[in-house]
Amino acid sequence: MNSPEQLPEHTLSFGSSDAQLENFTDSYVLFKETTRKYREAYEQLEAQFEFLNIRLEETNLELRKSLEEKDRVSNYLNNILESLSGGVLVVDPNGEITLFNQAAEVITGRTQEEVLGKPYADIIGLDAGRENTVLHTLESGNGLSNKEKDLKRSDGRRIPLGFSTSLVRDEAGRVLGAVEVFNDQTEVKRLEAEVQRTHTLAALGEMAATVAHEIRNPLGGIATFASLLGRGMETDDPRRHLVKKITEGIGRLNRIVTSLLTYTRPLRLNAHRVNLIDLVEEATAFFEIDLERTRQDIVVERSYPEDELICRIDPEQFQQVILNLLQNATQAMADGGTLTVQLYLDTTDTPCGVLCIRDTGVGMDDDVREKLFTPFFTTKEDGTGLGLVTSKKIIEAHSGHIRVESQPGAGTGFFISIPQ
Ligand code: ADP
Ligand code: MG
Repeated sequence: MNSPEQLPEHTLSFGSSDAQLENFTDSYVLFKETTRKYREAYEQLEAQFEFLNIRLEETNLELRKSLEEKDRVSNYLNNILESLSGGVLVVDPNGEITLFNQAAEVITGRTQEEVLGKPYADIIGLDAGRENTVLHTLESGNGLSNKEKDLKRSDGRRIPLGFSTSLVRDEAGRVLGAVEVFNDQTEVKRLEAEVQRTHTLAALGEMAATVAHEIRNPLGGIATFASLLGRGMETDDPRRHLVKKITEGIGRLNRIVTSLLTYTRPLRLNAHRVNLIDLVEEATAFFEIDLERTRQDIVVERSYPEDELICRIDPEQFQQVILNLLQNATQAMADGGTLTVQLYLDTTDTPCGVLCIRDTGVGMDDDVREKLFTPFFTTKEDGTGLGLVTSKKIIEAHSGHIRVESQPGAGTGFFISIPQ
């Protein structure tokens, strides 16, 4: 311990003057005091540093938590966006796409990579008019709600779109961009058209039934008088030819009236479990007998599964369907060809027995294909235009479904599926 207060008296007693000593002692005390102050200050600083460190750590923790929370919320929102069945796209104030969810990809046929950062006008296009786009909302500030427009997909297909738009703002009210939410309305439109068609058909059917009944009675009368007229004539009487024409005309009218009544009459099914293979083969064989007599230029081919194909079916009505389709197929092959009758089990959805009747005939263009199931639509001189509508009605009464595949000049295939 060499601190000056504790120095022994004798060390101070020689050489130096008193004033010098006093000076030195004062300086030393001052130095000592200063050091103490510094130490105190240092300790204070240390404590403060410790405190700040703890605060910093706390703040860091809070920050991390809030970031995690932010991530969680953003993931959550993203998941919602991605799982929405409606398309959602967002554009920034420059009209460039900044968000494009999965449904938007499906509806437009474009991928996120393709569209993000690209101008809306380049991707979605302005065909529907600028006033029907999110750009209009961006420019005018006015949102659009529940509007409709057509969209040209990336594959060129046009689809009806239902859409709404609105501005996106931050908390301070600044415009960050605009959002467009849209839905593919194809199925809705199809159903609307179907409902419309059903209404028309119902009205048409009612009228047709009345007319058919009204025609039947006088027709019966004409037939009776014509046959009476013919009976009184000699075999070589030239007027017999006229009577024959009348009888033929009556026959045709009668067929039309009968098909009309079949078509308009409410269907009552007498369905039971039958092996579709037996049923189809029976009708085909029956038809073939007639064909062999009249159309040697047509070859009939069959393709049946090995196992039986059991469905609940009204055999009589279903045979009518098969005969209608076979007849159409042969009529489509005026220059001969191949008629294929195929049966198989389709298990892709609900298990269904499928009957496919295919020909190598003239086929159909879009126009014919669209009108195929419209009553009285025919392209034949002596057609009634009731064969397919009646068939469709019978198939639908079996909870079945009929569809067609056909190209002009490339033949036609009708597919009928009946749930097992
Ligand atoms: P119809 O046979 O009395 O004309 P359908 O209802 O059976 O009436 O057929 C309607 C129309 O559909 C036919 O006139 C024809 O134009 C078209 N069609 C039906 N089946 C075929 C087929 N296999 N190939 C080409 N066209 C067909
Ligand atoms: Mg027909």
